[in-house]
Amino acid sequence: MDLTRVDDLWFPEGGLVIQAGSRIFRVAGSILAARSSIFKDMLAIPQPASQPTIEGCPIVVLHDSPEHTEYFLKAIFDSSFFERPPAPTTFPVVAGVLRLSTKYDVNYLRHRALLHLATASPLSLDEYDAFPSASTLGAQNFFTRLLLANDLGIQWAMPLVIFKISCSFPVDTILCGVPQDQPTLHLPLSLQRVCLTARNSLIFAQVHDTFSFMRVLDNAGCTKPDQCRSRRMRLLSIVTRKEALAPLGYFLSSWWEETSLEMLCNTCCREGRTQYEEGRQRIWDRLPEMFGLPSWEDLRAAREADVTRPEMRTLKSGCTLARSLHDLVDTESDEWVNLVECAMAARGRYQLHGICMLEGDKMRTWIVPLRTDGEELFAGLVKLSQQLC
Ligand SMILES: [Zn+2]
Repeated sequence: MDLTRVDDLWFPEGGLVIQAGSRIFRVAGSILAARSSIFKDMLAIPQPASQPTIEGCPIVVLHDSPEHTEYFLKAIFDSSFFERPPAPTTFPVVAGVLRLSTKYDVNYLRHRALLHLATASPLSLDEYDAFPSASTLGAQNFFTRLLLANDLGIQWAMPLVIFKISCSFPVDTILCGVPQDQPTLHLPLSLQRVCLTARNSLIFAQVHDTFSFMRVLDNAGCTKPDQCRSRRMRLLSIVTRKEALAPLGYFLSSWWEETSLEMLCNTCCREGRTQYEEGRQRIWDRLPEMFGLPSWEDLRAAREADVTRPEMRTLKSGCTLARSLHDLVDTESDEWVNLVECAMAARGRYQLHGICMLEGDKMRTWIVPLRTDGEELFAGLVKLSQQLC
């Protein structure tokens, strides 16, 4: 393979070469190790003298996307490259940094990436209306973003993208994927089902809630009831013949402030707009249920926890817990099931490790939780470890 040096990340004083695909980077291993516990462990392993080198530096090969690796390393070695919001960035940078900082345990970068993602993850109708001007991410590929949130278990980043994909992409694209520079991007079946089910619900919601003011309107005070009614009906027949799906933004402010006044009397315009806004709110309130996600309240709490409590708590030593949970916890119990679910939902931020050890003549399996970012769970585990020591 022809290797390409990345000039911005080729420091002559660096003692380590990182390879991802065909791109190579020469950096200071000590800085990487100080930022990332995974690199620290990786670089602590003595390398055989016969290992190939580049310019005398050992080579670490990463099986990550070259593009993501470049963003991640740039974020570490160039402090101005990836700053906190409101500094603008781009979605590919956030995606790359988020994936690799999660994988390699670089908390401050993960936190920064989550802050950026939060600027583009509205969880209330007001936030939705302020999007995308509040977003620091620039243009986004919604398929890539849904896969990112799904892979990393970031549910609060999902409502906007599921909504956008369900409303804006043809069914065929949801099923068959989006062609990219690289191979076509496919959603897994579970997400295809979510988007298609959501699309179906949103079509009904648009007819029922968004368009309701055209069918029935409290028009007490209307100066021309017959004319207004017939115009509402005509508008309804026009919009229901179109295929446009925009349940939260079918009639923009400009339509209400200009076009509607040419059709309806002032009273009907005012009442119609109120009814339309109430319909939008009802649809918004139902989105988590339509998308199979936790409630808005739970999603907001999860986002809040991610953006305000970034530190992953690392238990000092796995060994202090090695007097294992296994002895104490009934594996059928809710407590155990909860631990396992937490570990699965945390996607690597909190891990249960199984260690087999000889005890006398018996082999025993210890289950060791190594890290958690949940305060309560962390406190519980610390207490447990103290009791066991
Ligand atoms: Zn009227």
